[in-house]
Amino acid sequence: MDCVFCGIVNGDIPSEKLYENEHVIVIKDIHPVAPVHVLIIPKRHIANILEVGPEEENVILEMHRAVIKVAELTGAGKKGFRLINNCGKHGGQTVMHLHFHLIGGVNMGARLR
Ligand code: 5GP
Ligand code: ZN
Repeated sequence: MDCVFCGIVNGDIPSEKLYENEHVIVIKDIHPVAPVHVLIIPKRHIANILEVGPEEENVILEMHRAVIKVAELTGAGKKGFRLINNCGKHGGQTVMHLHFHLIGGVNMGARLR
């Protein structure tokens, strides 16, 4: 399958890894929009948030656990951050493998992204 994030998960594509466990990988975004901009990516290929089946809801729980972990690791949790999921064409999703953006280290104010 031609998927950038699957390539990162299996090590074919290099990335700056912040955290990894059995279920998720957290990497720095290649085009950061803020001092902290990381991607929380489930290891399993799921196209988007609508495609999470009932038997794989633990994936969302594991992504949430990683958010808590990385908020602490990066320090973004102290003052707050923005958590974004882009879904589909109108959502601006460009990599069709489910992921959250955790963006912080700056006051986001009313900025959307
Ligand atoms: P989306 O637009 O799908 O919500 O977000 C995809 C994100 O993945 C973008 O912010 C883009 O900069 C990032 N990205 C795309 N390709 C790579 C890559 O090869 N490595 C890393 N670290 N980030 C990537
Ligand atoms: Zn994938």
